[in-house]
Amino acid sequence: MVTAEDVILEMNYCPRCAHSLEDRFLFGRMRRVCPSCGFIFFRDPKVAAGVLVEQEGKVLLVRRAVDPKQGWWCIPSGFVEYDEAPEEAALRECKEETGLDVRLTGLLDVYHYQSDFRGSGILIVYRAEVIGGDLHPGDDASETRFFGPDQLPQEIAFASNREALRRWQQRFQ
Ligand SMILES: [Zn+2]
Repeated sequence: MVTAEDVILEMNYCPRCAHSLEDRFLFGRMRRVCPSCGFIFFRDPKVAAGVLVEQEGKVLLVRRAVDPKQGWWCIPSGFVEYDEAPEEAALRECKEETGLDVRLTGLLDVYHYQSDFRGSGILIVYRAEVIGGDLHPGDDASETRFFGPDQLPQEIAFASNREALRRWQQRFQ
């Protein structure tokens, strides 16, 4: 079992000059600082982007082929690369995981999560509609399928995904 301590790495050496970092109280909290070049290590949440893709009143889910939550269902999503806009990441992840090309039609919501063993993060969820491609499971997915509001699987990974789907479902009640 992988624990948070295995994964959340502390920065020990300066990425700029390789000197050992020290703990100092700066900008309101303890941070790792380089006494040689002044580099300050600001720890950030991970940023992820996902899409709630609707087609004929159904929503697109992917079954996870990897941990965390292997075998559970989630909306197409993934981490934003450091040089990528969140909108681009959402489109890329959807294509990689489902084979579908989508167009973003709006912002559903922004979620903060702390449950992931890789650290806390922010998930940006867009609404989207299909404009092309062929539905097939790709990277990190074992199955892709559209579900109606009454057919959602029990095993939905991540509180943020459950919340996003609950909001989507409420529109049909
Ligand atoms: Zn340094």
